[in-house]
Amino acid sequence: FDKVWRRELSSEAEIAALAVDVAALVRAGDVVALSGGLGAGKTTFARALIRLLAGDSDLEVPSPTFVLIQTYETGDYPIVHADFYRLQKPGELLELGWEEACEGALVLVEWPGRAEAFLPDDRLDIDFALDQECGPSHRIARLTGSGAFAARVAKAKAVHDILETS
Ligand code: ATP
Ligand code: MG
Repeated sequence: FDKVWRRELSSEAEIAALAVDVAALVRAGDVVALSGGLGAGKTTFARALIRLLAGDSDLEVPSPTFVLIQTYETGDYPIVHADFYRLQKPGELLELGWEEACEGALVLVEWPGRAEAFLPDDRLDIDFALDQECGPSHRIARLTGSGAFAARVAKAKAVHDILETS
C-alpha cells in the first residue's frame, strides 16, 4: 500500500461507492479535508457522504460556499460541512462558532488550505481532480490518511480490495 488510495469517480455509482467506503472509515470527532480545484467534485462527494450517514437520500445538502459552516443533526452524530473558500482570514472561524460546531461532530472541510491551523494533523485528506486524459467529466479522488488515520485508510483499502477480487 503506497499511502495514497486512488479511486475513479467516472459515474454516480463510483461516487456513491467511495462515500460508502468513507462512511465506514469515519466517526464522530474526525476531520476529512476535501481539496481540489474549483468544480473538482468536493461538494458532490460531501453530499453523497452526508446523505448516506443521515440515511436520507433526499436530504438537501447545498454547497456551504456562502454560509461557510453548515451543520446536520440527522444521523448518529452531527456532521459539519464547511467551505473555507470565502474566509477573509482564518480567525474568522472563531467568530462563526467553529469550535462549538465541531465538538463531537464529523467535520468535512472544502478548501482546507485557507485555514490549515484550525485543522488537526490526524485526518483524512481526499484530493479531487479532473482526469483530462479520460474525458471531460472523469474525476479521480486520492485518499491519504495522516497520523492515526494512516492505518485506518490502509485497512479500508485492504477490505475494498478483498471485496473487489472475491
Ligand atoms: P467548489 O470549489 O466550487 O466548491 P466543488 O469541488 O465542490 O467546487 P462540485 O460542486 O462538487 O465541485 O462539482 C462541480 C460540478 O461538477 C457539478 O455540476 C457536479 O455535478 C459535477 N461533478 C462533480 N463530481 C463529478 C464527477 N465525479 N463526475 C462528473 N461530474 C461531477
Ligand atoms: Mg464545493
